[in-house]
Amino acid sequence: MTTEPTPTPAPPTKNMHFIREIIAADNRSGKYGGQVVTRFPPEPNGYLHIGHAKAICLDFGMALENNGRCHLRMDDTNPVKEDVEYTDAIKEDVRWLGFDWGPHYYHASDYFEQMYELACGLIRDGKAYVCELTSEEWKDYRGIPTEPGRESPFRQRSPEENLDLFQRMRAGEFPDGSKVLRAKIDMTSPNLHMRDPVIYRILHVPHPHAGDQWCIYPMYDYAHPIEDAIEKITHSMCTLEFEVHRPLYDWVIQNCNLFPSQQIEFARLELTYTVMSKRKLLELVRQKHVNGWDDPRLPTLCGLRRRGVPPAAIREFCERIGVTKYDSLTDVALLEHCIRDDLNKTVPRAMAVLDPVRLVFDNPDELPATIQAANNPEDPAAGAREIPFEPELFIEREDFAEVPPPKYFRLAPGKSVRLRNAGFVTCTGFEKDAAGNITLIRGRFTPMNQPVKVKATIHWVPAQAARPVEVRLYDRLFTVPEPDADKNVDFMTHLNPDSLQTVQALAEPSLLAAQPGDRFQFERIGYFYAEPDSRPNAPVFNRTVTLKDSWKG
Ligand code: ATP
Ligand code: MG
Repeated sequence: MTTEPTPTPAPPTKNMHFIREIIAADNRSGKYGGQVVTRFPPEPNGYLHIGHAKAICLDFGMALENNGRCHLRMDDTNPVKEDVEYTDAIKEDVRWLGFDWGPHYYHASDYFEQMYELACGLIRDGKAYVCELTSEEWKDYRGIPTEPGRESPFRQRSPEENLDLFQRMRAGEFPDGSKVLRAKIDMTSPNLHMRDPVIYRILHVPHPHAGDQWCIYPMYDYAHPIEDAIEKITHSMCTLEFEVHRPLYDWVIQNCNLFPSQQIEFARLELTYTVMSKRKLLELVRQKHVNGWDDPRLPTLCGLRRRGVPPAAIREFCERIGVTKYDSLTDVALLEHCIRDDLNKTVPRAMAVLDPVRLVFDNPDELPATIQAANNPEDPAAGAREIPFEPELFIEREDFAEVPPPKYFRLAPGKSVRLRNAGFVTCTGFEKDAAGNITLIRGRFTPMNQPVKVKATIHWVPAQAARPVEVRLYDRLFTVPEPDADKNVDFMTHLNPDSLQTVQALAEPSLLAAQPGDRFQFERIGYFYAEPDSRPNAPVFNRTVTLKDSWKG
């Protein structure tokens, strides 16, 4: 995998949003002495996706804007689903997005001992107890929001007995599922999360980071506020589904006497024509509907990187979508727009023909031997290159019509078009095979300096000098905007069968020298990225995005 040079994120075009306002107000009131400390806490159980990018840009962005710091913390409290493979990938992706955690890289599991001590403290204070209800009984006792729950028969155990049992849970005396530690809060609370939630469970499973020291593990709602408080996080941003957990977050902070971290919830990013849940992404990878986690059709950050999406485009996208308190669906066209905007400024132009048909000139003696082509009309400093011009060219099959439909301004019998960077051609004839396919077009060349009235420009490559290259045309992975909207329909049924089309294109010779990671605009076609796995002199190009929004789904 290639690693891009880490750019310093450009100062964002700031839109005011409620989190910026909360932080500004806290800074004014001196709540945290003007400090802003945030964290990005991925669970290392999958690869990061564009939804995570929203959280990363917010967490690191708010810290940067306020001269604070942002920690990267592996939220690895669940030993079962986690893997070091993911930890490394997460770090690479955050760096690639352009953010730096400096020395502040942490693991939630490094705090297990402190979490255990704090739990013992809660027990001594009579605020936690060991419960032996089975998980079914526990659910039954917990009840439903509109009716109070029932107290566990184990709720009145003495602190001494609880402490002894909890210590023996840690020592491995009891099997999985036989006992839990519960916070003693309020079985009548309308918020189910406050009805004596489980804060520790027994799991005889080694931990990928902490090793085999533990057979009891803290639950997320208990662990997260402690992690934040230990790191003195001031603003702990998370997605909206945690809003109902906030009273428990605050309860842990208060009852364990911790640094007053505050949880602030925002709406998660949902994007059209894709799925974002780790479980669904994993299914797509496992069932080989895509070629691994970095398949360019996935919304994973490694997939977007492999597709050729520049990290600055993702940061700009995350700024533009803003931060709100209500769930909404973002059109993937906005992401594509941000990608085009970014690439248009910097990426050199080149010509390649995806579906070639031969164009033969009637006047070979009147042709230039080579032509000059600007590398980027948007950037004169990018210079120009020479392209051989030949008596035979290849042009795009769809740029010729035997019988032009209305408003078709490209090549047709008797009609003229501009040849990009070269001059004009007027069609004088064509040939067809038995099946009726056009096999050859004839034309007369007119140099650039002579007036020819045309309404279109087409691209081309010289027939002899052009080289075949593999081009991968990536499209949307699903055919419908919300593939997982209907819970009764398997989202896989909406897979787009044409999401990847591989073609042998003919490219102008200079493209053969493309290095893995180089980007080009193939004129009139789209933006392309030389595959990281390309071999020398045999580049493979991934289409990052088309030139215009051409989706007709
Ligand atoms: P999943 O539910 O698919 O397992 P997750 O939300 O549990 O994903 P985490 O690794 O826990 O994934 O997420 C790390 C951080 O990224 C959390 O703060 C989470 O709120 C945030 N995040 C995850 N998905 C999105 C999203 N779609 N939009 C914005 N933030 C997100
Ligand atoms: Mg999670």
